[in-house]
Amino acid sequence: MDNRMLTESEKQALLRKEQEIDEALHVIQPRTCGSCTMCCKIMGVEELGKPPHEWCRHTDVGYGCRIYPDRPPTCKEFECLWLQQTIFPEELRPDKCRVVLSSLRDGDGLVAFEDVGYFGAAQKGRMGRVLEKAGRAGVPVIIVRGDDRVILYSGSKTNPKLVEMINRINQHGDGPGDQA
Ligand code: SF4
Ligand code: SF4
Repeated sequence: MDNRMLTESEKQALLRKEQEIDEALHVIQPRTCGSCTMCCKIMGVEELGKPPHEWCRHTDVGYGCRIYPDRPPTCKEFECLWLQQTIFPEELRPDKCRVVLSSLRDGDGLVAFEDVGYFGAAQKGRMGRVLEKAGRAGVPVIIVRGDDRVILYSGSKTNPKLVEMINRINQHGDGPGDQA
């Protein structure tokens, strides 16, 4: 066995190797929805005539979609931010925090869709802190709370971009494919 100390360049090579392995594992094992089916309640699905805040008739709550291979394009296209970004911790999985987090279409802002039975969920606990931090960093944040649109952070109440975002959410409903 070689007991000598690693040189700096060997340490760097080892570190690079570990990073490559981590990245490869991340690609092989991306995050999955697991037993979360929250967007199947919170979001509207135009193709099915499903309004927001009601369970889809095809949902097996806590298990998944009964028509998964044939689900509409809106459902196929939608991925909440928790699913996309492993940086969000497990406790922010939508069925746990009762908030589906999505980005605005141009990526310049966040929309937090609250489960109607959990008023204020987007402003509580870890989710509340995440959104507060985003707002402090200058990211516009809107909460969709039933029929209400709460501008949590805008920079300015007359921010034309925010007005446009809210109009977009109102016009297109809250459909998953819309992503505001
Ligand atoms: S809310 Fe996100 S994690 Fe939950 S089922 Fe929908 S896409 Fe998957
Ligand atoms: S059809 Fe869409 S909204 Fe309905 S259960 Fe399947 S994935 Fe969810």
